[in-house]
Amino acid sequence: MSSKVVGILGGGQLGRMLAASASLLNIQVIVLDVGVDAPAKQIIASSSHIDGSFRDKDKIVELASKVDVLTVEIEHVDVEALEAVQRSHPNVAIHPSPSTIRLIQDKFHQKEHLSSVGCPLGPFQAVDGTPEAIAHAAKELGLPLMLKSRTMAYDGRGNYVLRSTDSQSVAAAIHFLGSGSRDLYAEKWVPFVKELAVMVVRGIDGTVSSYPAVETVHRASICHLVWAPFRLSSIDQDPALPTKAERVAREAVEKAFQGAGVFGVEMFLLNDGEILVNEIAPRPHNSGHYTIEACESSQYDNHLRSILGLPLGSTRIKVGAAGMLNVLGSSNDTSKSFASSSSLFFSDDSLVDKLTHIALSTPGASPHLYGKAQSRKGRKMGHITIVGTSDAEVRERMTPLLTCIAEFEG
Ligand code: ATP
Ligand code: MG
Ligand code: MG
Repeated sequence: MSSKVVGILGGGQLGRMLAASASLLNIQVIVLDVGVDAPAKQIIASSSHIDGSFRDKDKIVELASKVDVLTVEIEHVDVEALEAVQRSHPNVAIHPSPSTIRLIQDKFHQKEHLSSVGCPLGPFQAVDGTPEAIAHAAKELGLPLMLKSRTMAYDGRGNYVLRSTDSQSVAAAIHFLGSGSRDLYAEKWVPFVKELAVMVVRGIDGTVSSYPAVETVHRASICHLVWAPFRLSSIDQDPALPTKAERVAREAVEKAFQGAGVFGVEMFLLNDGEILVNEIAPRPHNSGHYTIEACESSQYDNHLRSILGLPLGSTRIKVGAAGMLNVLGSSNDTSKSFASSSSLFFSDDSLVDKLTHIALSTPGASPHLYGKAQSRKGRKMGHITIVGTSDAEVRERMTPLLTCIAEFEG
């Protein structure tokens, strides 16, 4: 379909699902990540995959020498290396552009930039890692205060909720966030009623389209559930809300970032209907996994089409409703299994196995396992998408999975 070879920095689950889309169009993909059996490498055969880090400059240049288009499944890559590739390999297209990745990978810079283009945001400010600076920020922005690492943050691992400014609490925050070694910033606590996300697609010609707004539910700062499309929670809620969320997301991407591909825009909904942007990912996103089964073209199909300059696919939802459950590792100690799990075989994690089995006998459910070598508590091991004719049907189909998690957690 396209004779161009695509290089992906990162071989985790997003790279794996991109590779699956690429295989349908017979597009050659080369993956750079550590190990010969990274999740993305397992499903697309190539003797050209590179064993190395997406933060290793030499490895990135090696990948560039083998491909026509470079893209990322994670934003924590070496941007200087990508900028060097822009100079040394002018025929290799890089999407999203290195300038976009640079802006996004520092969450404080991202917020400053989004603010400068008029994106709706909650208050935030820089803090250095000293107890005085943190106490000062808490005075200005109030408690609870959301302290965040500026860089290398994902799945909430760089977030800390400060609830008191006594010296013990502040010391605990500094300890959690890396004993002062990581640059921080502070956000005013946003009293959101719901979280929303919209996947935005920008074609190589700059045209922008969006998937429907979805509701995301987080537990301990990690995405837990996605409900699509966004359902109004009461009859007095503004029916234009989902359209407004799509507009906010499209405008944010159009005004703030360059380059083709899909962008995941995370947002907060306040009780007066106001929408604030939380953060933007320059790549396929967890909140868009559901598009594989539920939309006319998935976020992965559209990311590839977009970076290769192929016609973009429809972003329309083709089912009544969909739900997506993230399947997280349950324990670092896999010997603590369910007694009943001895006959199960999908992974070395009993909860993952249990959920997969339930999904296999749930109508409309598609379990996805990522092939990660080891399970760890809270690690994204897979996800399950459920489609149905209505939101009510999807929620009913999801119930046994949620009950299983609740029982496992006791
Ligand atoms: P991701 O895996 O999406 O990249 P992350 O580690 O970058 O996550 P954030 O998106 O900054 O983390 O925050 C994770 C979650 O924490 C949010 O989805 C939301 O539930 C909560 N959160 C973040 N910022 C705030 C805030 N200012 N006020 C209230 N809750 C917040
Ligand atoms: Mg993030
Ligand atoms: Mg986030």
